Amino acid sequence: MAEVNIMRIDAFSYREKISNAETVMLVPVGAVEQHGPHMPLGVDTILSTKMAELVAEKIDGLVAPTIAFGYKSQPRSGGGTHIVGTFGFSAAHVIESARTLVNELFRHGLKKMVFVNGHYENYQFVYEGVELALRDIRAISDKLPKVLILSYWDFVTPEALERLYPDGFPGWDIEHGGVLETSLMLEHFPDLVHMDRVMDHPPAQLTNYDVLPEIPERTPHSGCLSSAKPSSAEKGRILTEVAVSEMVKAIQTEFA
Ligand SMILES: [Zn+2]
Repeated sequence: MAEVNIMRIDAFSYREKISNAETVMLVPVGAVEQHGPHMPLGVDTILSTKMAELVAEKIDGLVAPTIAFGYKSQPRSGGGTHIVGTFGFSAAHVIESARTLVNELFRHGLKKMVFVNGHYENYQFVYEGVELALRDIRAISDKLPKVLILSYWDFVTPEALERLYPDGFPGWDIEHGGVLETSLMLEHFPDLVHMDRVMDHPPAQLTNYDVLPEIPERTPHSGCLSSAKPSSAEKGRILTEVAVSEMVKAIQTEFA
């Protein structure tokens, strides 16, 4: 399999590859965030990069440098920034990173880009960065790039969810450090997961509103919003297959 991540490709090969205007560039977006006692801080960065690479291999695309400094974790989706181990970068940081990458990739001649988000809280700020970049480009060119923005878990189909969560799917917001991420890590990076350290507890009881400052007691001590105990590499394989093939479908449809 040819290398797809430009961080591991030399400039001459990179230029040759993108001289084909059809080349799709995938941009992973992650975070530095605690993921319980059983997984490393880089999970969102590691998984968004892996997902982007798997998609790139299928469509003969490339993967850009990962935006690793994601927006602040929130109690209702990632445990909250009060937990040491989580780094809370500002929205401005995420917006400018996305905006800069679109501008730079366009300057390199790329016209087809896909942001692959792996951290729930990033989404709207990636959108904002892309939108601002298109305003920048509109001022100098009438040939705008086409940019897709997606979160990889949104491509897990209802049929797959039924198979993976026989007791009912709890929702992506409380999946932080739970079965989805842990299973994907077990499938692709088993050495980084320590199942013997999983803290098994009922799903976090979340309010349907936010409270600031954060109330630390409302986040389970594990830092995870649901238990990772039912995770397995087999589930990670199913999740990967369905998410990658559905992302490829969407990309091919949009860039046909
Ligand atoms: Zn995560």
